[in-house]
Amino acid sequence: MQDEQREIRDFYQRPEDEQQAFLEQTWCDNCLEENLGMSDPQEYLYKGILFVEGRCKKCGEAVLTELTEEDF
Ligand SMILES: [Zn+2]
Repeated sequence: MQDEQREIRDFYQRPEDEQQAFLEQTWCDNCLEENLGMSDPQEYLYKGILFVEGRCKKCGEAVLTELTEEDF
């Protein structure tokens, strides 16, 4: 991914309950487990898709949640 095509959003502008949902409802490709949780969330828009990227609370690898337009 090229950084210049990302539109950075402020994750912390979201309501508290949405933040919690994003932080808890994760899928980790490294652990192959869902809902392990993430830390250090960063939100950005890339090619019309909204991403919330953070670190897996279990293994520390990057986890990515993708939202299509119907979701946001
Ligand atoms: Zn993990």
